[in-house]
Amino acid sequence: MKFVRPKIFLVGETRAVDDGLEAYFDHVGVSGWTTDAPSDAERLCEVFGRLCYRSFEPGLNPNVTRVRQGNGPYLRHIVEVGHGSVLEHASVNFIFADVSRVFTHELVRHRAGVAISQESLRFVRLDTLTAFVPTLIQESEEGMAIFAKTLEQLEAVQRSLADAYRIEDATSFDTKKKLTSAFRRIAPDGVATTVGWSCNFRTLRHVIERRTDPAAEEEIRLVFGMVYETVRARYPNVFADYAVEMVDGLPWVKTDHGKI
Ligand SMILES: Cc1cc2nc3c(=O)[nH]c(=O)nc-3n(C[C@H](O)[C@H](O)[C@H](O)COP(=O)(O)OP(=O)(O)OC[C@H]3O[C@@H](n4cnc5c(N)ncnc54)[C@H](O)[C@@H]3O)c2cc1C
Repeated sequence: MKFVRPKIFLVGETRAVDDGLEAYFDHVGVSGWTTDAPSDAERLCEVFGRLCYRSFEPGLNPNVTRVRQGNGPYLRHIVEVGHGSVLEHASVNFIFADVSRVFTHELVRHRAGVAISQESLRFVRLDTLTAFVPTLIQESEEGMAIFAKTLEQLEAVQRSLADAYRIEDATSFDTKKKLTSAFRRIAPDGVATTVGWSCNFRTLRHVIERRTDPAAEEEIRLVFGMVYETVRARYPNVFADYAVEMVDGLPWVKTDHGKI
């Protein structure tokens, strides 16, 4: 039995293909066009946005006499006018480790613009139980004792079942899978596990807004607070409109341009 805290790993992000972009800029008549985007992901969002009106430079579209210069001002405008579909062109890939099934069940409710791969507790046997301890429990000596004892007992149950069904002696993987799946039914909802979660920027904004709200559950607020810190530093122009207010020691990430 072990107590853990959720961890986030940013493991992937959208990358631009420079040759392809240059060929497109030649094609549309703005050879050598560049921008000051801090990341490929933000650069591509800008390109896809400008493509809509051919607003790479004044006059390329005769209807366009002025264009916003710079990736920051351009994406800020996209956010202000709610042109959120442009932000669907870039994606990020996260692994969330030591997160509970409470967390993953809440996470998977967000359906639009995501891809999910969850550690299978049919295949991965629970021999040691690990869990995040919510602050409310941590603050109470009595609560902490009950929490720890229960987790220890549930861990012992997992071991007893493994012994009773002699899972170590099973040779067929199918048998092991069936037994593992049966045993997990009495593991706690708070058992720590791993989930891979990928999403586009539009979805990411929505989920950060919803899940750092003080009305959301502590663990998911904690995780998306960390996610926000990571993406705000790496893609500053996509998240430039956000402000943070600390509530209960966790960041509440707010904007006047919610759910674009
Ligand atoms: C604080 C909090 C408390 C919650 N409590 C509960 C609860 O008690 N019980 C419960 O069941 N759930 C609860 N939820 C989950 C909530 O109801 C949503 O399921 C979850 O937040 C996913 O958000 P979403 O609906 O915006 O979907 P997302 O998949 O994140 O979609 C983003 C947006 O895309 C659009 N969209 C997505 N799918 C469709 C569709 N099929 N049709 C039309 N438009 C679509 C919607 O505009 C949606 O807002 C809670 C969520 C929060 C943040």
